[in-house]
Amino acid sequence: MRETDCIFCKIAAGEIPSKTIYEDERFRVILDISPATKGHALIISKEHYANIYELPEEMAASAMVLAKKLAAHMTEILQCDGFNIIQNNREPAGQTVFHFHMHLIPRYKGDGNQEKICWNHLELSQEELEDICQKLS
Ligand code: 5GP
Ligand code: ZN
Repeated sequence: MRETDCIFCKIAAGEIPSKTIYEDERFRVILDISPATKGHALIISKEHYANIYELPEEMAASAMVLAKKLAAHMTEILQCDGFNIIQNNREPAGQTVFHFHMHLIPRYKGDGNQEKICWNHLELSQEELEDICQKLS
């Protein structure tokens, strides 16, 4: 399935040109048009799933295996010093293109980004931690 107005559906189908570094029957991997670092790439599913909630489990498994292989390949070729794998879901989490994708971000010492893709650190009480733990377990 695909969505008519989805840019990543068009890119995945090859209707809009992209810098493709890998392709198989499930995924196309392209260079990000506005990269965080040299080599920043996106694993895009060929079928349209808005986010990880919609993604079938077997696709999620394949995406992670592919991410692992590409992390090794890109690190060897690009000689980067580290690697971030990031995947955003829904607007409050920073997703801007609502078609499942994973960011592969080679990291270089002094690449100008904060080492840790950052978030604020909450100070939660033991009770609050215990409450969350109980709800989730
Ligand atoms: P998100 O914010 O949804 O996790 O990531 C979307 C990513 O897609 C961004 O890093 C953005 O630069 C990239 N992007 C958006 N439109 C295009 C496009 O047309 N071509 C390519 N190659 N990347 C795109
Ligand atoms: Zn799509």
